[in-house]
Amino acid sequence: MKTFRHLTVAQVTLIFCSAFTPLFLRAQSQPAADFIIHNAKIWTVDKNHPTAEAVAVLGERIVAVGSNGEIDAWRATRTRVIDASGKLLLPGFNDSHVHFVDGGRSLASVQLNDATSAQEFARRIGEQVKQTPKGEWVTGGDWDETKWTPAVMPSKELIDPFSPDTPIFVSRYDGHMGLANSVVLRLAGITAQTPDPPGGVIARDAQGNPTGALKDAAMDYVFKIAPPLSHDERMRAVKRALAHAASVGVTSVQHMNPEYADIAIYSELLERGELTTRIYAAPLIPGVDDQIKIGVRHAFGGPFLRIGALKAYADGSLGSATAYFFDPFDKQPNNHGILSDEMHPLSLMQDRMMRADAAGLQLCTHAIGDQGISIILDLYTEVVKAHGERDRRFRIEHAQHMVAKDFDRFAQLHVIASMQPYHAIDDGRWAEGRIGHDRASRTYAFRTFLNHGVRLAFGTDWNVAPLNPMFGLYAAVTRATLDGKNPNGWFPEQKLTVAEAVEAYTMGSAYAEFQEKEKGSITPGKLADMVLLNDDIFTIDPVKIRDVKVTTTFVGGKIVWDGAQKSGQ
Ligand SMILES: [Zn+2]
Repeated sequence: MKTFRHLTVAQVTLIFCSAFTPLFLRAQSQPAADFIIHNAKIWTVDKNHPTAEAVAVLGERIVAVGSNGEIDAWRATRTRVIDASGKLLLPGFNDSHVHFVDGGRSLASVQLNDATSAQEFARRIGEQVKQTPKGEWVTGGDWDETKWTPAVMPSKELIDPFSPDTPIFVSRYDGHMGLANSVVLRLAGITAQTPDPPGGVIARDAQGNPTGALKDAAMDYVFKIAPPLSHDERMRAVKRALAHAASVGVTSVQHMNPEYADIAIYSELLERGELTTRIYAAPLIPGVDDQIKIGVRHAFGGPFLRIGALKAYADGSLGSATAYFFDPFDKQPNNHGILSDEMHPLSLMQDRMMRADAAGLQLCTHAIGDQGISIILDLYTEVVKAHGERDRRFRIEHAQHMVAKDFDRFAQLHVIASMQPYHAIDDGRWAEGRIGHDRASRTYAFRTFLNHGVRLAFGTDWNVAPLNPMFGLYAAVTRATLDGKNPNGWFPEQKLTVAEAVEAYTMGSAYAEFQEKEKGSITPGKLADMVLLNDDIFTIDPVKIRDVKVTTTFVGGKIVWDGAQKSGQ
């Protein structure tokens, strides 16, 4: 009976409206399950009972987890029985950092990320221009010039020939730089005379003319004049994103910097019962007063849609050399990065954080460079000093490059490190060339964080990286860079075990959104969000984890993805 856990009838009655309960009661007062998954290898991520064979689900919740025999007690004629044939069942993945609508849009926009040369990059944009109706923009792309031979920064001359009238603004994959063609520069009024905005850079040629590349806040010149997404376009993007999330086993996402119109789409789909991924939305901190006025606090809402968090920006990114470091970038003695426009002046950010915290809102701050992170820890310290200790779950998004002394501060302030392991094997290709060996040794320092008692929440930053959690688990466990040059791991001492990586991606992310009592593990009483995999990531060669597929995704007790059905088996 060691692994047998189930709710008492009294508890079930508490969970399910008492009006329904009598329908489920059987002779021995045991309610029947809607469905049972048996013959599974279950990794529960529940420390008290890590493994099991079977699970029973009633309504949207898990009611029992145990051996095949124990769970059979929940079976009645109406109970659907799913034979897992020994396959691995995990809690659904919770991606703690996505840009869900951008992700949905990227599924249908020009794909530039795997281009291997500037010519190929330009050719694909030319193709997209041909398919784009007159007047519409070509956007997205996720280009990465470090994958080109030679690796050169692109300029508008590459793409101007294809597009005398079509506005083109394609983003670098990290979202911290975009390339505009001459049409867009003209529409945005960017000329040699335009000054760099605070927190941004307009790249210029030797004569001082804009090259088309715009970094961080300089992209705002374009965002200001770009036409907003129509309701239909946004709805299409969200539907694509939901379908994609289900297919890769992502049952919850935490949407960083959504537009309010995105939340409106989620509400609409929620009302229609069509949300198949649970969403926690963290709009940008300049809008802090909106949530304060409504009076919502952290994690306000229901199981499918919550708000009450704020996304802030401390700095830029490593790839764009805009992450804010104490010391300069290697070979760029005059550049140690830039603080974001939200940090000019620092008192502006401090004031917003203070007001957000006083209102009970959660802070999720993007900070990548070591000094950017340090400054945010300073600000968080000030908040605690002003308002006292409380379970507020500060987050730092990315937490990419740490100075050694800050790991302890991170732990003392109970800051959650919301990290994206895929970035480690991506940036790991070239990070040492930008910041040197010593700083690189504290980059994506998963193990050091855990050793200091810091909680990890894992995600992807989709569409910056692919949404598929298998890539993230693979990255955390192998740290094998995408270029194949570190097969035994880039700074291998920072590798995690499969169990640790899965925990960060489920319970860790649930904790980061105040939902650890509702989801994150396969535990009686929790929401029935689970995934069946086609292979056992705990026993296969870790190199193969990236090839593992989700065969079935359950959200709230409903099947939202059935891989077998999709492939016509
Ligand atoms: Zn992001």
